[in-house]
Amino acid sequence: MTYDDSNVFAKILRGELPCHKIYEDDETFSFLDIMPRANGHALVIPKSPAVNLFDVDTATLCAAIRTVHMLAPIIRNAMEADGILIQQFNEAAAGQTVFHVHFHIVPRWEDTALKPHTGEMEDSEVLAENAEKISDALDVA
Ligand code: 5GP
Repeated sequence: MTYDDSNVFAKILRGELPCHKIYEDDETFSFLDIMPRANGHALVIPKSPAVNLFDVDTATLCAAIRTVHMLAPIIRNAMEADGILIQQFNEAAAGQTVFHVHFHIVPRWEDTALKPHTGEMEDSEVLAENAEKISDALDVA
């Protein structure tokens, strides 16, 4: 599959679509998933275009996982989660729905079931509140 820069994450990167941003550096960008599987469900994307694991170059993938590694404990603390699930889907057959490579960072609690993948849209106020919690935790990290 060739990269199509009309995908929603490319539009978010270009500022053409809004998002609840939590982090950005030269190589990566992170924001909350609009249909979260759990409160505080975040996405990490590289700024360089790539569809998924099959075409991404190693340096780009390393930059993305470095950001995942940095954010995961911050999100765990901010959301008072018991654990963190990392997910990464490649091709539609594996559940990929947005064709710009990304990692999911999903907070988990012992007593809370995971919501379905790409289930219900979250209220913007809830996303804003969770983004603020995570951004605050990042500021003091
Ligand atoms: P995938 O299925 O490709 O691994 O995951 C794509 C994720 O992007 C899904 O979890 C979905 O909820 C999320 N998503 C789809 N469209 C948008 C959007 O416009 N904004 C945000 N923030 N997330 C989106």
